[in-house]
Amino acid sequence: MQRPLLHHLSLLLLLSSLITNAAVAAQPRQVSVGVYANEPKILLGQDGRLSGIFGELLNEIARQEDWQLLPQPCEWQQCLERTQRGEIDLLPDVAYSDSRAQVLDFHKHPALFSWSQLYSSENLHLKSILDLHGMRIAVLQGSVQEQYLQDLLDSFGLKAQLLGVQSLSQGFELVASGQADAAVANQRFGDFHAPHYRLQSSSIMFQPAQLFFATRKGQNADLLSTIDRYLQAWQNSPSSVYYQSLQRWGGERPKVLIPTAVWWGLATLALLLAIALGGALLLRRQVREKTQHLQASEQRLNTILDSVEAYIYIKDAQLRYQYANRKVCELFGLPLEQVIGKTDDQFFDLDTATNLHENDRRVLKLGERVQTEEINRSLTGETDLAFLSTKLPLRDSRGEIYALCGISTDISEHKKNLEKINQLAFYDPLTGLPNRRLLLDRLQQALAKHARGLQQGALLFIDLDNFKDLNDTLGHDMGDQLLQQVAQRLSSHVRAQDTLARLGGDEFVLMLEGLSLQPAQAVSQVEHVGNKIVAALSAPYSLLERNHSSTASVGIALFPNDRSTVDEVLKRADMAMYQAKAAGRNAMRFFDPQMQAEVSARASLEFDLRQSLAERRFILHYQPQVDAQGQLIGAEALVRWQHPTRGMVPPAEFIPLAESSGLILHLGRLILYSACEQLVAWAQDPQLKQLTLAVNVSARQFHHPDFVADVCAALAESGADPRRLELELTESQLVEDVENLISKMSQLKAQGIQLALDDFGAGYSSLNYLKRLPLDQLKIDQSFVRDLLEHPSDAAIVRTILALGDNLGLSVTAEGVETQAQYEALQRMGCRRFQGYLFAKPGPASALENWPRTPTTE
Ligand code: C2E
Ligand code: MG
Ligand code: MG
Repeated sequence: MQRPLLHHLSLLLLLSSLITNAAVAAQPRQVSVGVYANEPKILLGQDGRLSGIFGELLNEIARQEDWQLLPQPCEWQQCLERTQRGEIDLLPDVAYSDSRAQVLDFHKHPALFSWSQLYSSENLHLKSILDLHGMRIAVLQGSVQEQYLQDLLDSFGLKAQLLGVQSLSQGFELVASGQADAAVANQRFGDFHAPHYRLQSSSIMFQPAQLFFATRKGQNADLLSTIDRYLQAWQNSPSSVYYQSLQRWGGERPKVLIPTAVWWGLATLALLLAIALGGALLLRRQVREKTQHLQASEQRLNTILDSVEAYIYIKDAQLRYQYANRKVCELFGLPLEQVIGKTDDQFFDLDTATNLHENDRRVLKLGERVQTEEINRSLTGETDLAFLSTKLPLRDSRGEIYALCGISTDISEHKKNLEKINQLAFYDPLTGLPNRRLLLDRLQQALAKHARGLQQGALLFIDLDNFKDLNDTLGHDMGDQLLQQVAQRLSSHVRAQDTLARLGGDEFVLMLEGLSLQPAQAVSQVEHVGNKIVAALSAPYSLLERNHSSTASVGIALFPNDRSTVDEVLKRADMAMYQAKAAGRNAMRFFDPQMQAEVSARASLEFDLRQSLAERRFILHYQPQVDAQGQLIGAEALVRWQHPTRGMVPPAEFIPLAESSGLILHLGRLILYSACEQLVAWAQDPQLKQLTLAVNVSARQFHHPDFVADVCAALAESGADPRRLELELTESQLVEDVENLISKMSQLKAQGIQLALDDFGAGYSSLNYLKRLPLDQLKIDQSFVRDLLEHPSDAAIVRTILALGDNLGLSVTAEGVETQAQYEALQRMGCRRFQGYLFAKPGPASALENWPRTPTTE
């Protein structure tokens, strides 16, 4: 039973399937088709049927295949979504894209080729994608074009406002109403509708597309393959409905059947061309913009470079000017074009150019940054400018130096000021010669150089003779003129390496360097110069259009020698100059080593003197003074120096030095005090209390303002009787300031002190004022006493002095009485007071204490 049942069941199924199939075959295939307004490709005709190219093609296929097409009107985006959901079987006019192929299936042979194109109003000419910068562009919202266009704009760096629209016609309307500048549409729609909106197609095309019927992924494969079959056949037949439809909707004729690949090639080419064109234009625009930008910044830079006060330039590796700012051009007096390519030897003299090139090469060859002072002399030698230049190497991207950039600042003014300051500090304004300061500096340098024994030098101290007289008689202006003429004459005898300076007043110094190393030769070289100078300076001068004669004395010191310090050399030359003066002026003298020895001896003596004063190594010896009967009437205090090594040193050897060094003030005070103490001691002795004690006073001591006070203080402090003190003055100290002298003497006399004039007759006291001096005594100079018996003239002088004393009421003492004959002769002449070896040599005070009442006779 089983078997017939199964058999029946299978039969039943077969039948039912046959019945079903027969029923299906009988009914047309229903195909829902998405329709939206995209004339001429797809639209819903007024009869409710599909229209447009896609519509007509599908209608024809449906007719032949007996499909029942069910148009499903929808907006584009909505159509797409419904197709994906399977609510629509076929959606015409879908551009293939990989992303769409994920959700939709496409047939193989594209139904149509299209591309996107921009349409604008007739007066806006869009030539390339670059022209879209800043434009408002209507584009189907969510469409492939929208994204594509955005990417395209981005890749060109352009900014445009994309206005999303729901339909292509809405986009065209926006353009037509001025709310958008351009609208994107597929070329088929655009070309078809543009005239209606008074729009024109631009040459901006992009995104070529293959258009298909699409269906939900995995469905309706039969529909797709059927469509492919028809399209393939039609596209191969120029008279097919396919081309008829294309022609109807867009005027397209299949004159030559172009293979798909060629179509694609052309489209791609067109796109590439558009991009290339756009790219080229973009580049050109960018170049133009960059050029403008560069031009602007170059102009800015030039303005800055031209307005600075520095000289700025660039020189290439061949040292040719590649750039020069305004200051440089002004300096050269040429426009920039004529400066460029030239080198420094075309602008500066040879020395300058060589120096500049040396500096430049350091920058170019060694890559150094050079900062240096450059003195630039123009070709004609007229202008001399000082620059502070900084030069830097310029390197290319590989680090190679290809040029240098220089910035030079004009420091001529600054240098001039420095020179002026220098001039004021180191030069004598009257003669323009170096001053003392500069001379000392140069001498110092010369000594350092010559100390190495390589050269000899000499210092010539030049002093005008009697210049003071000229100044006093003709005035300082004339004096200045003479000094200027002297400076001129001296300058003409000076070599470049020598230094001629004016120390001040009428003192000039000439320093000679580089003399022979042979002393004799050096001396004769200097002698030659010295003689020329003496001769040159003794020639008549013209002052106030009259001849004036003047001479000079020149002292010369050679250096180096063992004590060559600046001071020493100057001092020696000065001393030699004084010797020249002493020799009668208008002369030249070399510094004498003998003189040097004396100077040295004097220096060491002065040192000892100072030392001994501190150690109180000075004592007084006393020499008696007697009357005609040989009776002791007084004594003269004579200082003695107990030198630590030389024993007793007589005053003649150190008093002058004590005077010149000023030590006499200290020494004199010591003597005065100890003399007063001696008087006080004698006052205790009835034998000696009547004695006067004579104390020698040096000129410098006497003229000291404190002298009178010092004497009074010594007397007061010791308690000595002023009437026993006698001060001996020498004639030389009477010559100056007589009024002051008289006043001082009077003050001393008022104290009861006696005053004597020592060594009278040897000096040149004027009798005229001698009588005005409040003196008590004259001491006849020992030279007259010594030769009294031999020379009648000396006897005559002695007699005169004695008579003078009588007339002026002064007592007279004869000094240096050594013989009885002299003693007696003097007595016969009327002399009453005597001093000399005949009676006693100077000795310690004790000798006087033992003095006999009557003088010893031999
Ligand atoms: P003066 O004041 O004319 O002193 C006399 C000088 O003659 C002394 O030399 C004395 O020793 C020397 N004399 C005395 N009798 C004779 C003689 O018979 N024959 C010779 N040939 N000479 C005699 P002295 O002590 O060497 O002093 C020399 C000079 O030094 C003094 O000459 C005086 O001007 C100065 N002197 C001495 N002591 C002092 C002093 O304490 N103060 C100052 N300022 N000068 C002094
Ligand atoms: Mg004396
Ligand atoms: Mg004397």
